[in-house]
Amino acid sequence: MNDRRRRGRRHYRRGLALGLACASLALTACGDPVIQRRRGVDRMTFLDDSALEPPDPEDIPPPPPRDRRQVRGAAPLVARCANEGGEHGRSVGRATDGELVQGCELPERGPGYVCRHPARFGTPFVVAALQAAAAQVVRVHGQGPELVIGALSADGGGPLRPHRSHQSGRDADVGLFALEGGGKVFRALRPSEFDVERTWTAISSLIRTGRVIYVFLDMDLQEPLYRYLERSDVDEATLQRLFQYPGGHDSKRGLIRHARGHRDHFHVRLSCGNDDGEDCLD
Ligand SMILES: [Zn+2]
Repeated sequence: MNDRRRRGRRHYRRGLALGLACASLALTACGDPVIQRRRGVDRMTFLDDSALEPPDPEDIPPPPPRDRRQVRGAAPLVARCANEGGEHGRSVGRATDGELVQGCELPERGPGYVCRHPARFGTPFVVAALQAAAAQVVRVHGQGPELVIGALSADGGGPLRPHRSHQSGRDADVGLFALEGGGKVFRALRPSEFDVERTWTAISSLIRTGRVIYVFLDMDLQEPLYRYLERSDVDEATLQRLFQYPGGHDSKRGLIRHARGHRDHFHVRLSCGNDDGEDCLD
């Protein structure tokens, strides 16, 4: 069986499993398993009923339209690339063994964020999603500490030390917000220092793209985030889909997973989308 057919089968099985889980949980907003199979993305679209407007570095974008079909319809977020010709950037291969063709450079500054890392190239979708997340934090919480964005991928992708992934323009490191002292540097946080509200606004904005495969965050920091959502009346089924916590480090559950070295930032990986080619591999 060739690679693509194998992938197709995997996506089909995953879609089917999700469909069954959705049916058994009677969640009205579950993702469509057919769409899941065909596109291999949108795994988390059932979490939210909003889409994101294309972010514009000049303005904070208006509130997102509340039509989930717009997310499914794969109208890609449009990035304002700093480099010419970045609009057609696409991810090739895997995050751990891939490249980035005509990557979009995240501008060093934009509404609500700063990124001084030299490796700040991603696919247009990923760059736009990060800009939208920063803008969303400003929209929800007002002016305050900026979202500090770290490494994405190198120009052209490929190996980026000391990371194993970050090779194909679909990974990004994002600083956590602290309750005191702003968010200006990557700083390891104790749970009591962690600004869960601002950080969740950024993470959830990314998840709402429907393209997040994983968020890596230390287990000790997952707990306060989990408790915050629990207090916010997020239902149990959604919490289970979102968090590895309270499972152990080896638990295979949840979109938000523990990984060492993620006390001062979270790592987000987005899936391949229609805007990437067939040679993009999740
Ligand atoms: Zn990372």
